[in-house]
Amino acid sequence: MISKAMGQNQLTPITSTWMHELMNDSGIIEGLCEKYGSPINLHHIPSFRKNINAYQEVFKKFGIDGQIYFARKANKCQILAKSALEFGIGVDTASYRELEQAINFGGTGANLVSTAAIKTEKLLRLAIVKNIPVIIDNLDELQLADKIAGEMEERCPIGLRLSGFQVDGDKLYSRFGFDIEKDLYNLKVWFSDKTTFPNLKLAGFHFHLDGYSIEERGEAAIQTLDVIQEFRQQGNNLEFLDIGGGILMNYLESKKEWEDFQLNLQNAVLGKNEPITFNNNGLGFESGKGKNLNISGKLKTYPYFNEVNGANFLTQVLSYKNKEGISVAELLNRADIQFRIEPGRSLLNQVGLTIAKVAHRKRDAKGNWLVGLEMNMSQLKSSSADFLLDPFVIYQNEPENTNFVDLYFTGAYCLEQDVLLKRVLKFSQLPARGDFVVFVNTAGYMMHFYETEAHLFDLSQNLFVENSREPLSIETITNDSDFDSENSVERDVIVQES
Ligand SMILES: *Cc1c(COP(=O)(O)O)cnc(C)c1O
Repeated sequence: MISKAMGQNQLTPITSTWMHELMNDSGIIEGLCEKYGSPINLHHIPSFRKNINAYQEVFKKFGIDGQIYFARKANKCQILAKSALEFGIGVDTASYRELEQAINFGGTGANLVSTAAIKTEKLLRLAIVKNIPVIIDNLDELQLADKIAGEMEERCPIGLRLSGFQVDGDKLYSRFGFDIEKDLYNLKVWFSDKTTFPNLKLAGFHFHLDGYSIEERGEAAIQTLDVIQEFRQQGNNLEFLDIGGGILMNYLESKKEWEDFQLNLQNAVLGKNEPITFNNNGLGFESGKGKNLNISGKLKTYPYFNEVNGANFLTQVLSYKNKEGISVAELLNRADIQFRIEPGRSLLNQVGLTIAKVAHRKRDAKGNWLVGLEMNMSQLKSSSADFLLDPFVIYQNEPENTNFVDLYFTGAYCLEQDVLLKRVLKFSQLPARGDFVVFVNTAGYMMHFYETEAHLFDLSQNLFVENSREPLSIETITNDSDFDSENSVERDVIVQES
């Protein structure tokens, strides 16, 4: 039997048919955990493909030359990089090994890019020998890429990362990129002829903005297109504008639940109602001091509910108009330039879930039920204050009667803070040893971005389903680490260098 959290503070996640097929088959779940341990992460590749198609439809609708580069950092599974290339899109890599794997899967200079925040010489050598564009962030990187390309007697294709765009009178700060105001003069001088960086070939411009604003992306695109115009006038043959990722995704079914939750959380923090989180954690909300109890701070989580998301969000960025009323899409067409996006999280919408086994139940001194799971906090870890989606419990035995219970799930790290979700969750029955808990939609950043091996726990296993026509079974579910033995690019490169 399967049950979702219920009660006053539900945050009902959007789910897919494949998730329900799996959750309704406790035999498969049990078999998978027996074979691979707990927790396991399961990925559904047809859903990945569906997300790719949705963005491609937007490009088609606007008649622009668009390309998607899947931001690999959002999920480390090799099958996703491999599938992205098979489905005809590119891969945005941010480390040596991400690049190496993508090359192994047939990636080339035409569909790979390196946006690594730290570029080692080894990474640059690999990118240069394979003619893969490198997105450059600072002068040291320009000099290093030019030097290495010179030594290798190659030309390194590069994109310049910009930041510091003006939006509504405010300058958008980023630790990344060349400043569009302060650094533009120098960049123009350096790329006015081939004397400064003779071994670099400037091929395009790039930005990636923090946050999820359509307006900021629209403004940044317009300002970068102006820069592209100026650089073309001085003889640079530019091929692309890359606007990075950060396309919003929607996780939740109900706007009302999302708004009620925030209100209830604020009231709990102010002491006006019962706590709804572990130790009354405000997740960013704080109660003000003094006589008038006011809420301060703001929710420090991902904005899990979004009416405008995915393809719709991209549509709005492309429809954003400059002061003359010309849309970004129209400007791209006039500039005759390829438009690139690097979505990570949003391409993984509905693509993955995490399953963990119940190990024990106990009551703490406050009377809270704590349900220990065979997993740890690093295996469901958000860069923000909490993952705000209700999980599901798969009960092995049909309960005789409902016996509502409020509980928290706890993990295996010997830290007081290893409480897997901070919200109190209500279920129809207390889970028992051997039951399973399923956290849905975890593929984007949640399942293993921050995973650590403290206490020498094994890393979770990453499994995938490639074909939606075959019925789900333990045999058709494959382990992502089966690819590892195929890695060989490093040897290839060393051979080529000598
Ligand atoms: C993180 C990142 C992305 C992906 O961002 P999402 O929010 O996952 O879409 C794309 N490009 C760059 C350069 C990034 O750093």
